[in-house]
Amino acid sequence: MTRWTVAHDAGRPEGRPCGHLDTAGGDEPPAAGDGCAACLAAGRSWVHLRLCLSCGHVGCCDSSAGKHAASHAAASGHPVARSAEDGEAWAWCYEDEVFLVPVTGGRPA
Ligand SMILES: [Zn+2]
Ligand SMILES: [Zn+2]
Ligand SMILES: [Zn+2]
Repeated sequence: MTRWTVAHDAGRPEGRPCGHLDTAGGDEPPAAGDGCAACLAAGRSWVHLRLCLSCGHVGCCDSSAGKHAASHAAASGHPVARSAEDGEAWAWCYEDEVFLVPVTGGRPA
């Protein structure tokens, strides 16, 4: 189980909270699989994938034409999605617009 905390981001006001850390905590979601289902259905490609930490939905990032992770967050009310890219351990809260990073060893990383 991964716990998340707000990451320092020099480009944003310091100390901005995220009220969804409990939502984001949970079992590791399943692997991203084939990719963004909405893009696959439309025959389009994407840049990066995001994995919804509430339900495991896979959508494409805001750099992708579809922005399906953002539209999933808006439509479902699931604000937090993590990167589904190998080696990337961070998440994004669409509602609070903050980066989240895993808590390691019981202290914020
Ligand atoms: Zn939040
Ligand atoms: Zn997509
Ligand atoms: Zn979701």
